[in-house]
Amino acid sequence: MNVLVINAGSSSLKYQLLDVDTGEVFAKGNCERIGIDGSFIGHQERGGEKERLVVDLPDHKTAVKHVFEIIDGLGLPVDGIGHRVVQGGWYFPESAVVDDEVLAKVREVAPLAPLHNYAEADVVEICRELYPSLGNVIVPDTAFHYNMPERAWRYALPRDVVDSLHIRKYGAHGTSHRFIWRAVQEFTDGACHKLVSCHLGSGASLCAVEDGHSVETTMGLTPLDGLIMGTRCGTLDPATVFYLQREGGYTVDEVDTMMNKQSGLLALSGISSDSRDIEEAAAKGDEKAEVALDMFAYRSAQLILEMAEAMEGFDTIAFSAGIGENSDDARARICAKLGWMGVRIDDAKNAVRSDEVREISAADSAIRVLVVPTNEELMIALDVQEKLA
Ligand code: AMP
Repeated sequence: MNVLVINAGSSSLKYQLLDVDTGEVFAKGNCERIGIDGSFIGHQERGGEKERLVVDLPDHKTAVKHVFEIIDGLGLPVDGIGHRVVQGGWYFPESAVVDDEVLAKVREVAPLAPLHNYAEADVVEICRELYPSLGNVIVPDTAFHYNMPERAWRYALPRDVVDSLHIRKYGAHGTSHRFIWRAVQEFTDGACHKLVSCHLGSGASLCAVEDGHSVETTMGLTPLDGLIMGTRCGTLDPATVFYLQREGGYTVDEVDTMMNKQSGLLALSGISSDSRDIEEAAAKGDEKAEVALDMFAYRSAQLILEMAEAMEGFDTIAFSAGIGENSDDARARICAKLGWMGVRIDDAKNAVRSDEVREISAADSAIRVLVVPTNEELMIALDVQEKLA
């Protein structure tokens, strides 16, 4: 079955056409600067060279049409469409086949993720209108965390307030954490029961996965919570928000921008939000870069133990996403901080670069440590296959 996976943002639209049964990716790309001057499509076929197609993309509808033209050119059938949805809110414990009601719900919960959900819902609608014979499935990033125990998702705020505004820990990266669990099961032959899944990319979150179920995660009402990220501050005293407004004179929107776009590794290092640049600077002796890397690892190790508490122990840590898959330095720093409890990695194994799932723990490690390349698109495509069957 060939599935077109679409990940729409407010001014971008990523796509990938893949065969669910073999995992083969036929084509992928990104429509960028939709509705902005200088729009283009970065397109790649079967791992070949990336092409840059300069096209006018005044809106998402035009972008979808271009994507289908490109896909038509491949001469391959499309059997269904999977849409990444950032926020499923209080409605979706799992992926869902799109109908009018599902689409209305995606829009109803959009105030929780306004930059994403509205664009995602619009693109689903465009696909239904332009290609009515194809089934569409939405795959919410929050679905995996929907059934966490109440002690994990509830906030200690007045009940009438949280109830009327639907405030809870929704989490994020659920599709990635679900894929990571699946890959760990395959790799360990089902030996893993209590996994701390570490999705460490420019956005970063941890998830406690016990026998396939998310029981705790670090992102909260929004993806701002938890770990230090590329440009997000992660957890801090919530009173900082009103202190910044009262004493600093910042508006609500300015605090929002500060905490989401100007903080994290970027603010700590003063160099970049990209850990490659920071690692390079730290290696040359830059002190702020060193502090940034140390704090990232410290917070990660702290929250790994928070995840472990949710499961009363853990047997496996899996590192994934841009930093988790590629940075042996970040993995080594995090595991060193857990050394007191017997986590040990094999430096030679940690240094290996590969696209495969691999084990990097030392033979005497108390916890198995794995590196797992995530594949959210394949997880989405698998959901499409299951839901449209
Ligand atoms: P993602 O959001 O999963 O695409 O991850 C992107 C982030 O991964 C980048 O911003 C970098 O911080 C990090 N990253 C990617 N490759 C490397 C690498 N080789 N070494 C260290 N960090 C990396």
